[in-house]
Amino acid sequence: MGEHFRRQHPVFGYIPDFICINKKLIIEVDGGYHFEGEQPEMDAERTRYLNEIGYTVLRFTNEEVLHDIDGVLEEISDALEEYKTNQAPLPSGGVGGGFRVGMGYDVHQLVEGRELWLGGIKIEHRLGLLGHSDADVLIHAISDALLGAAALRDIGYHFPDTSDATLNMDSKIILRQTVELLREHGYAVGNVDATVCAERPKLNPHIPQMQACLAEVMGVEPGSISIKATTTERLGFTGREEGISAYAVALIEKI
Ligand SMILES: [Zn+2]
Repeated sequence: MGEHFRRQHPVFGYIPDFICINKKLIIEVDGGYHFEGEQPEMDAERTRYLNEIGYTVLRFTNEEVLHDIDGVLEEISDALEEYKTNQAPLPSGGVGGGFRVGMGYDVHQLVEGRELWLGGIKIEHRLGLLGHSDADVLIHAISDALLGAAALRDIGYHFPDTSDATLNMDSKIILRQTVELLREHGYAVGNVDATVCAERPKLNPHIPQMQACLAEVMGVEPGSISIKATTTERLGFTGREEGISAYAVALIEKI
């Protein structure tokens, strides 16, 4: 325990008297020994380093704190004011570096006489998903998550299921165009995490192939795409194998 408290701070290299991390302010109150020997040089070097990493260092003597607390407080308040005026305005996308999240959800009915397309690949199964396009429920959920993150409506808005152009459409085209649309609006895809709910077929063996396929379509690393498969324990429409549903969340970044 004692050792823990004596350890130097990993960022500052010593233990400052007072740190306000979110205002990047360090206050040192120096005893007499700070004015003797090598200490002033070490203090100056340390202050230079702290300034370099964006911190303001205020040094007060014990005397100042004891006999001129108003002056000390004024200096602290000036430093905080200066910090406030130097802050760049937040990007319009939100807090921090302009990261945004979106979620998507989709369901398609399972019927006989249709191919089963999931995550951009064809899977052998006696039933397939019914829809105007190829009904790739996973791609639809991911595309909606991406559009949602950019507040650009949903895939029904951009690819209406009443249009001949989208009849039996390969959903990879929808995903590719969604990513392009985001790029036109200044967004890059960060990562995607999705879950497919299906009683059958077993999807786990197909996940690496879906991941590689979607990463290629979206122009990202496979590690940026996570796909999970689950059953719903025979409950509900997915449990009765009447349909397959998919959920997705996506993170995008303003570039
Ligand atoms: Zn759909």
